[in-house]
Amino acid sequence: MAIRKIDELNIKDKRVFVRVDFNVPIEQGRVTEPHRIDSALPTIRLVLSSAKKVIIASHLGRPGGKKSAEWSLAPVRDYVEQALATPVTLAPDCIGAEVEALVREPHPKIILLENLRFHKEEEKNDLDFSRALASLADVYVNDAFGAAHRAHASTAGMASFFHEKAAGLLLFKELEYLGRILSSPERPFITILGGAKVSDKIGILQTLLSKVDALLIGGGMAYTFLKARGAGVGKSLVEEERLTLALEIAAQAEARGIPFLLPVDHVVADTAKKNPSTVEGDIPPDFLGLDIGPKTADQFSTEIRKARMALWNGPLGMFEVNEFSRGTISIAKTLAESRAISIVAGGDTVAAITKAGVEEKITHLSTGGGATLEFLEGRKLPGIQALET
Ligand code: ADP
Ligand code: MG
Repeated sequence: MAIRKIDELNIKDKRVFVRVDFNVPIEQGRVTEPHRIDSALPTIRLVLSSAKKVIIASHLGRPGGKKSAEWSLAPVRDYVEQALATPVTLAPDCIGAEVEALVREPHPKIILLENLRFHKEEEKNDLDFSRALASLADVYVNDAFGAAHRAHASTAGMASFFHEKAAGLLLFKELEYLGRILSSPERPFITILGGAKVSDKIGILQTLLSKVDALLIGGGMAYTFLKARGAGVGKSLVEEERLTLALEIAAQAEARGIPFLLPVDHVVADTAKKNPSTVEGDIPPDFLGLDIGPKTADQFSTEIRKARMALWNGPLGMFEVNEFSRGTISIAKTLAESRAISIVAGGDTVAAITKAGVEEKITHLSTGGGATLEFLEGRKLPGIQALET
């Protein structure tokens, strides 16, 4: 796999197309969660420092192949302009005569193309649309890791029109850390998995099972494992059709002789999610487990402190509700204080890290949701393959 990094390209006086993932939450015309934009700014600054023209492109939401004011990137333009302290021009579209004219002129230097998904051809990876996008620039840079699992025109199709193409700094960093998990993790390497459902995590469980030195399972998915072992789980979330799979996974972990930790105590509540209390062992019939208990947090922490590399995906409880966030937050803090190279993946898990206030102490917060999971499942991502030269 030969993928170049942006700093290996000669972009001096070139027109550089930068595909980013600026698909951010917007409320009343303002960006409310700019993490994804901020993550791509180093790449944009780097391009800006020597290129002739920076052409930034992103999708936003699901406008369904039609132009609409609701899904305009105008609020993103405002945010980027302020962040870079340089004027940013929003093009009226992402292809067409007006855009071509804007690209030809020496000014403005930074152009943000309008929402790629205003054209249905984007998601269809249409050849003519790819060609039209490619015609705007001399060099192609992809920094949109969050969209790399999609074979769309701007993430895959257009790359074939460029000889000069590379991964942006953010995308490269993702490949570096996530790639290392798959190829040569520091050992002991542990994985902490949580979240609502086993079925969301089967792929990653199966790929990582043969690589980890310990597997720690909490969150809603733990109850399927506990029930499969015959434990009382009350009204907790259980996927009946995954019970056999849960047993197989537990058996594989045992066969490998690695620690395989499930919760030993729980923060439970009644079915209205009220009256929280802590129980050890079996959960009474009318209660549901909504967080790991303190003993479990201690056991997990002991493994985390031994680790040299740790991957965490999936909150260990319903952390959005304060009463059920303690387990997740304590594990976030332990991970932050540990010596391990820490990699956190998943939108909700990254939100939990932010809630715990330890984001500065985590080695790598992955910006891809589906893309990160697919990568860790060992699948080839179209957006990455398209960069191979
Ligand atoms: P990520 O986005 O990080 O990949 P997931 O989407 O897989 O994480 O899981 C996050 C969701 O799992 C959260 O909404 C959280 O409330 C839920 N969750 C975690 N533990 C439990 C639990 N014990 N019962 C019900 N839901 C849970
Ligand atoms: Mg999620």
